[in-house]
Amino acid sequence: MPEGPEIRREADRIEAAIRGRRIEEVYFGLQRLTEWADALTGATVEAVDTRGKALLTGFDNGYTLYSHNQLYGKWMVRRRGVLPKTNRQLRVALHTAESSALLYSASTIEVLPTECLPEFPPIARLGPDVLDATLGWKEVALRLRDPKFSGRAVAALYLDQHFMAGVGNYLRSEVLFAAGVHPSARPKDLSTGHIGRLARATLSISRRSYETGGVTVPKALAGRLKKEGLPRSAHRFSVFARQGLPCHQCGETITRINASSRRLYFCPRCQPE
Ligand SMILES: [Zn+2]
Repeated sequence: MPEGPEIRREADRIEAAIRGRRIEEVYFGLQRLTEWADALTGATVEAVDTRGKALLTGFDNGYTLYSHNQLYGKWMVRRRGVLPKTNRQLRVALHTAESSALLYSASTIEVLPTECLPEFPPIARLGPDVLDATLGWKEVALRLRDPKFSGRAVAALYLDQHFMAGVGNYLRSEVLFAAGVHPSARPKDLSTGHIGRLARATLSISRRSYETGGVTVPKALAGRLKKEGLPRSAHRFSVFARQGLPCHQCGETITRINASSRRLYFCPRCQPE
């Protein structure tokens, strides 16, 4: 499933194509939504935002299109009139004079008054967004210390969108590695120093992934590994999907475990229990 950084980059592409443009034609591929096509036709797109893994397309007539890709959804942007060759089901099409923003395969789609967004349950229950530029690491540290979260293993906590929105499976492994925190650690057992490191890594690794298009290792290291001729898959992550390979930092073999039914990777030496 795409995580916060991937969704945000998808939103950037859509925004570049349709923001500030009048939507001339709207299509909905889900029966329950077809009545909304008229309401959105002729409106202008004001913003394409994200909250966690949800994408929010705001229109100047007071409505917002909420969509969540879940496992299969995919947005594509094309020149108008040039539809991609795909077997996917078209679920939303927003056509401006020049471009089309097309959502395929997703089924978690709603149209609602923008003013109702904060109370809309899938949005209301989200924690702070890791890509929110106004969010500071001290707020994340406070959240880690909150009794609501501090007694749970970080491996479970970091998949809970109510704790922090936008973190998914690869970010979970990469953030815990960057902070040197073992997956089974509970925030209440961590030192103040470790909480600070974890809070800072939560934001810095997520933001780096957004800026680099999914690379979470430090820039200098990624450059060096690339120069050694390693493929992107080998220099993208510190631990994720690197089971059996040596840690970039200490040489120890990366371990894979299952945590909250999803695969998690860590370095036993850099992240001691
Ligand atoms: Zn290591």
